Amino acid sequence: MTDFKRDGSHLAYCPPVEKWDDWVELDPEAWPRRVEKHYQLVPTVCFNCESACGLLAYIDKTTGQIAKFEGNPMHPASRGRLCAKGPATINQIHDPDRVLYPMKRVGERGAGKWTRTTWDEVLETFGTRIRKAIQEGRGEEVMYHVGRPGHDFIMERMLQAWGIDGHNSHTNVCSSSARLGYLLWHYADRPSPDHANARFILLLSAHLESGHYFNPHAQRIIDGKMAGAKLAVMDPRLSNTASMADYWMPTYPGTEAAVLLAMAKVILDENRFDAAFVRNWTNWEELEVDGFKARGQSFEDTVEVLKKHYACFTPQFAEKESGVKAEVIVKIAREIAAAGSRFASHLWRGSASGNLGGWQPARALMLLHVLTGSVGTEGGHNLNAWNKFVPKTFKVPPPQKRWNELLYPKEWPLCTHEMSFLLPHFLKEGRGRIEAYFTRVFNPVWTYPDGFSWIEMLRDEEKVGLHAALTPTWSETAWFADYVLPMGFSSERHDLMSQESYAGKWIGFRQPVNRVLRERAGEKFEYTYQANPGEVWEEDEFWINLSWAIDPDGSMGIRQYFESPYRPGQKLTVDDYYGWIFDNSVPGLPEAAKKEGLTPLQYMRKYGAFEVTRDVYKQNEKALSAADLAGAEVDPNDVVRKQGKPVGVMIDGKPMVGYNTPSRKLELFSKTMADWKWPEFTLPEYYRSHIHRSAQAASIDQATDDFDPKYTPKVEWPKDARGEVYTLLPIFRLPNLIHTRSGNAKFLYEISHKNPLWVNPVDAKKLGGARTGDLIKVHTEIGYFVLHAWVTEGLTPGVVACSHHLGRWRVNEDQQVERMSSAWVDLKEVGKGQWKMRQVETVSPYASSDPDTKRVWWSDAGVHQDITFPVHPDPVSGMHCWHQMVRVEKAGPDDRYGDIFVDTNLSFAVYERWKALARPAPGPGGLRRPLWIPRVVRPEESAYYIK
Ligand code: SF4
Repeated sequence: MTDFKRDGSHLAYCPPVEKWDDWVELDPEAWPRRVEKHYQLVPTVCFNCESACGLLAYIDKTTGQIAKFEGNPMHPASRGRLCAKGPATINQIHDPDRVLYPMKRVGERGAGKWTRTTWDEVLETFGTRIRKAIQEGRGEEVMYHVGRPGHDFIMERMLQAWGIDGHNSHTNVCSSSARLGYLLWHYADRPSPDHANARFILLLSAHLESGHYFNPHAQRIIDGKMAGAKLAVMDPRLSNTASMADYWMPTYPGTEAAVLLAMAKVILDENRFDAAFVRNWTNWEELEVDGFKARGQSFEDTVEVLKKHYACFTPQFAEKESGVKAEVIVKIAREIAAAGSRFASHLWRGSASGNLGGWQPARALMLLHVLTGSVGTEGGHNLNAWNKFVPKTFKVPPPQKRWNELLYPKEWPLCTHEMSFLLPHFLKEGRGRIEAYFTRVFNPVWTYPDGFSWIEMLRDEEKVGLHAALTPTWSETAWFADYVLPMGFSSERHDLMSQESYAGKWIGFRQPVNRVLRERAGEKFEYTYQANPGEVWEEDEFWINLSWAIDPDGSMGIRQYFESPYRPGQKLTVDDYYGWIFDNSVPGLPEAAKKEGLTPLQYMRKYGAFEVTRDVYKQNEKALSAADLAGAEVDPNDVVRKQGKPVGVMIDGKPMVGYNTPSRKLELFSKTMADWKWPEFTLPEYYRSHIHRSAQAASIDQATDDFDPKYTPKVEWPKDARGEVYTLLPIFRLPNLIHTRSGNAKFLYEISHKNPLWVNPVDAKKLGGARTGDLIKVHTEIGYFVLHAWVTEGLTPGVVACSHHLGRWRVNEDQQVERMSSAWVDLKEVGKGQWKMRQVETVSPYASSDPDTKRVWWSDAGVHQDITFPVHPDPVSGMHCWHQMVRVEKAGPDDRYGDIFVDTNLSFAVYERWKALARPAPGPGGLRRPLWIPRVVRPEESAYYIK
């Protein structure tokens, strides 16, 4: 593929920028007549996953309506291409069931009765409650909880301006384990693989078809393959990605680290590693293992100790654990070594998110990069922090002085993100309450494990005083809110986006298309909701106005951060906010804009994206500047320190920036792990997941020597759980759906609307000869769900699988719901904490303002599995370990498709068993967590100490 060019010449078939004001296409509906349609094209950024691809909105010049969305060729990461979810934005904005006005509950929470209210009333209500909480020193009772992130910069500004520690996120059900594995090596908690220039690509899970940074990465993986790179995929499932690979390694789930360490052993034993890189750029001199201390010893002796340490990870051992043939492991290890610095890989969810100890595969994978010297290289593994652009803003509020233990409790001091999925249990334990709760594009009742515990929490006004669901669509969670506040899709609001999509750094500008277009025509708007459908607002303006509502006269010191940098004392506008950032904080943008006679803001409104730099490799080797070195000292470990804080490292006598770790090198040996009570995990290791076969055997009281209760709590089955024990993989994605947000996209639900249970034929036989379409009952530790079987060889025997994204439900027949994607259910609490759900009616055609809803031909919305899962907080990373040990049987005569039962008393007991495995703070010096590890919306240092 031709690479991205700023003039757009890499995509000849996309509309060239000079024609965006009057783009002409023939009207397909008029065929065979040749009738021209004239469009105005306005760029924005897709909101349907984290990749942030560039969209072009096609606005029909006759109707003034957005007619479709296609790819923006001027976007450096997506290069004019989209996945199916990008163009489906058109369904979302025209969804006849969408929330168009701020709504307020009338009657009891969860009763489903709503009345329209005004934005002024919302601001007044929340402004008063939050002001009072802050003034009374109860700031921690105000919480913002984000599902799909976005507008991160203004959120951080807002929370710190309010002086509260109130940011919660979904990350601990998503990627925390992978993040911990990466950050222990190099502080950056995400990889940025340079797939396009790699010679060998290793993907753990289905990254090419549905993974993190899906479309931007997928096209570069294909670039790499077309240039000759080999592709290997480690995944228990024969995903579309695995089917395109040169090697498929169907590991037994949770054994991936064993395979990776066996590969490392091959590379070490055969001396195929990059010794110069390991010597220069790892902290090998700090290694203390198996009674050996490297300090004062030679590098060669240390390598011999490493070889001995990993001697147990023979390819034969890895084969026994994982099922992957030893000779395949050896062959791939040698190919990785041969690729050397051009070895790229990716791991994000999959094994990391599914398993107890899921952070170890990321650490083991990084060991392969370190051994091959493929860190920071062309075609290798780069750091997200090097490729993601983070803008600076004006007048930044100081960090908050407080620490919120509902977010970062003592038990999990190494969690990378907030322990958000445990919130209902924390409140049940009496750790606190919430006065004002904002959920933003967030549907924990449906997307989190243990959703019935969320319902119990949300309906309890003692625990949650006031709850606003900020959302573009109705959801299972919004149902239990006090306010449902309509927020915009990608073409209805502002935002800045940047991701580590390739070997470059870019920034994308999401913008409200109608407002931009009408302002170009001379209209003026105070707020975006005046130009959007209904009164759909955007978060930026909502938070600015809420901050003014909390502090109307500025006496609390909050309002000053939401005043214009250009017009002192006046309210900040979105043009002020983004204009200042583009004027002052994006290198090269003012110059590029000037060349075209535009302001930087006008340039971004015109193109929608800007590539900041391609100088991204080997940032660790950048020389420390004279200013960095002024007053600095070099300590005995060659770390350059300024006022005691590490700022660089001496390499071959030269002061270099290095990595953001305590040693400023890649941390092969993690002293942090030893200091924080995990001395057995100072090096990359493998330990058995909670769904390992030994744990399965222990769960049915079979003798097992391998089960280690130190890391894995024993499963206690509900008394009526029957059937064979299996591992359930519940987290693979479908490429065309995205959790709650695609529920109103008819193009997408037409493609996928069913999530059957994948069963290998070997296992189908054990299940009494189960066939595709048979009803199967799956028992978890806290309940069960009933769904259809799909018998397939594309899955390791002993494992069953069910996809993400499906099983939406609604408790009323036809109001405030996405009817094309949800089943109408009868939901009952049949005993204290005992919940039963049965489908009353599945999907069927219905009348609405969209004639297509009468043409809905599918009759299934899938089955909601996540709500039957207990929480499994990993004792180290804190991440929810998604894979489930389940018992599977054929459904009985009383079971119906979609039936669900859960006992939240059992889920609390499982929570307590997992919590008991954690090793709580304090750490050294009375710290709550290591100072060097990043934290979202970081408080000031004094808050890190337990008083
Ligand atoms: S990968 Fe698809 S859903 Fe994600 S941002 Fe790109 S087009 Fe949108």
